[in-house]
Amino acid sequence: MLDLHVHLLGHNDREANQETIRAFLDQASQRGLKEIGFADHDYYWDQMNFPLIREVAKDYPQLDVRIGLEAEYRPNDEGRIKHLLEQFSFDFVIGSVHEIQGWAFDVPEEEPKHWQKEADELYREYFEVVTRAASSGLFTTIGHFDLIKIFGIRPKTDILMLADEALSAVAEHGLVLEVNTNGRYKPVQEFYPEQRLREEIRRRGIDFTLGSDAHCAEVVGRDIDEAIQLLRQSGVHSIVGFANLDKVNYSLD
Ligand code: ZN
Ligand code: FE
Ligand code: FE
Ligand code: ZN
Repeated sequence: MLDLHVHLLGHNDREANQETIRAFLDQASQRGLKEIGFADHDYYWDQMNFPLIREVAKDYPQLDVRIGLEAEYRPNDEGRIKHLLEQFSFDFVIGSVHEIQGWAFDVPEEEPKHWQKEADELYREYFEVVTRAASSGLFTTIGHFDLIKIFGIRPKTDILMLADEALSAVAEHGLVLEVNTNGRYKPVQEFYPEQRLREEIRRRGIDFTLGSDAHCAEVVGRDIDEAIQLLRQSGVHSIVGFANLDKVNYSLD
């Protein structure tokens, strides 16, 4: 179907060349995807090569190859992202929160700090930043909406209350949320966002997209079929991809 969150460059693990791009597109074709979206981390801006992706994509006429970006959202840093977005006509832009007040919280070394904090407070601080990201007007998509659960810490307060404002901002700005299958391979061992959130997202009429968050070619499209099944079971009838920042609808019926 589609996978709109793959990292060609990984964490600067390889360069963007014919061979690496082909490896990603070959895997997407083998998995029967209709649409693949590159969304490298903005940290590696200088290593990106969008013209080459467009060029190589011509050899894959059955595949819609989209170009996006996963931008690191930090409050009061919107200008930096805005400047990047002015330099290329992206198909989609994922806004992700991996930092709370300068604390890069999603790396393994930071797990102890998660357990030291009060869980509700941890979730509140995270969703406050997500709310600002969603309200910034910079993005088409919010990445891994409940990333803060990464180490398996659960809040005492109902997640629907903690995420309420962020969901309202997402809905108000017409943003899309991804089912990001990569969470299964993190300590929490489940997709982002969790099932109750997925149902609330559907209830609010927010559109879904899909992403494996692959950081290497082998992972492209991983568990995407299962994510589609889960969405169907939750009563979702269509999902969206993006072309030129416009939504492209795919029926799940
Ligand atoms: Zn990454
Ligand atoms: Fe991310
Ligand atoms: Fe990512
Ligand atoms: Zn991600």
